[in-house]
Amino acid sequence: MTVSHVDGNRAGGILAQAFGRDVTDATGVCAWCGHRHVLAECHVYDQAPGIVMRCPICGNVEMVIVEVRTEVRVSLRGFRYVNIA
Ligand SMILES: [Zn+2]
Repeated sequence: MTVSHVDGNRAGGILAQAFGRDVTDATGVCAWCGHRHVLAECHVYDQAPGIVMRCPICGNVEMVIVEVRTEVRVSLRGFRYVNIA
């Protein structure tokens, strides 16, 4: 089975809920391959219980977003860092 992805803008709404504003233009550096890119370029897989955002170059997981009851939990483990202006 092939699982398709959409671009990072698809996660814009839930990211805005977590960070208080649109952060799809924020820049992150992949912890796996070092590629610097805006969050909108991530490959988003949203057909699971949470949203998984993968590096557009190496395909490793950079961010996982899960809604738990009234909270939004964000793991940024796959980024070295994210710059939010
Ligand atoms: Zn990467």
